[in-house]
Amino acid sequence: AKDLGRNTFCFFNNEQQQKVQYRLDLTAQMRMAIQNNELTLLYQPKIDLCSEKIVGAEALLRWQNSRFGAIGPDHFIPMAEQNGLIAEIGRWVLDTACRDTQTFIKTLPSFHISVNVSVAQFKNTDLASEIAEILDFYRLKPAVMDIEITESILADQVSDIRNNLAGLRRLGVSLSIDDFGTGYSNLGYLKHFDVQTLKIDRSFIQDLTQSEYNQTIVRAILQICKGLDLTAVAEGVEDRQTLDLLKSWQCKTAQGFYWAKPISKAALVELLVAQMTP
Ligand code: C2E
Ligand code: CA
Ligand code: CA
Ligand code: CA
Repeated sequence: AKDLGRNTFCFFNNEQQQKVQYRLDLTAQMRMAIQNNELTLLYQPKIDLCSEKIVGAEALLRWQNSRFGAIGPDHFIPMAEQNGLIAEIGRWVLDTACRDTQTFIKTLPSFHISVNVSVAQFKNTDLASEIAEILDFYRLKPAVMDIEITESILADQVSDIRNNLAGLRRLGVSLSIDDFGTGYSNLGYLKHFDVQTLKIDRSFIQDLTQSEYNQTIVRAILQICKGLDLTAVAEGVEDRQTLDLLKSWQCKTAQGFYWAKPISKAALVELLVAQMTP
C-alpha cells in the first residue's frame, strides 16, 4: 500500500511536471513566433444581408509552429494573456490588420476591419493611443476599424480599461460586443460606452432553424438592437435556411461558413474584386 501510494504520487507529479514543462516550452516558442514569421492573419468576410455582398471582415489569428504544429487561438491566446506576450502579439495583429486593410480599401473603399482585442490588452497600456498611431501610420480613418471585445469588459472598474474604452470612442473606432448573450450583460453599459454593434453568439445561431429556444433569444437580441439603435451581426451562419430566417427578422449583417471560412488576404482580395465586377 505504501508503494502504491508513492507510485500514485509519482505519477501525479510527473503529469503535473509535464504540464508545467509544456507551458514553458510553448511560451518559449511563442516568444519567438513573431520574429520567426509563424503568425498569420486570416479574414472572415462580413456580409450585408440585403445585398449579400461583403462589407468588411474579421481578422482571426493563426499560429503555425515548427515544433507544435498548428495551435488554435482558443488555446494560445489565453496562454498569451497569462504569460504577458499578448501585448506584443496584439500589437502585431493590429499592425498587420491595418496594413492589409490598406489593400482591401483599394477595392472596396467602404470596407470595415474588425479586430479581436482581449481584456489584457486594455490593462497597463495606452491602447487607444497605440491604435491611433497605427491607423495614422497606414493613413486609415479610425472609422474603418471596429474593435471586438467581450461584454464583461464593460463592467470592469479598472481605470486603464475605462480610459482606453473612452479613448477608443473619442478616436472614432467603433466597438462591438463579441459572443453577445453568453456572458454578463448589463444593458445599461451598452449606451454608456457608446457600443455600436452586438455580435450574436454562434451558439444561438447554430441550430436556429431547429430550436425554438434559440429563435426566441435571437429575436429578443434583434429587438434590443432595434430599440437601442445598435447593429446586429449574426455569427456562425452555415446554411441558407438560417440566413433566410435572419433576413426575415431584419438582421442586417452576418458571417459564417455559408459564405466563407476565414481566408487569406489574397483570397479576400479576390472575392472583393469579383463582387465589384458585374
Ligand atoms: P471569435 O471572435 O468568436 O471568432 C469566431 C470563431 O468562430 C472563429 O474561430 C471562426 O473561425 C469561427 N467561425 C466563424 N464562422 C463559423 C461557422 O459558420 N461555423 C463554425 N463552426 N465556426 C465559425 P477561430 O478563428 O478559431 O477563433 C477562436 C477565437 O479565438 C475567437 O473567437 C477569438 O475569441 C479568439 N481570437 C482569434 N483571433 C484573435 C486575435 O487576433 N486576438 C484575440 N484577442 N483573440 C483572437
Ligand atoms: Ca470575434
Ligand atoms: Ca464571437
Ligand atoms: Ca469566442
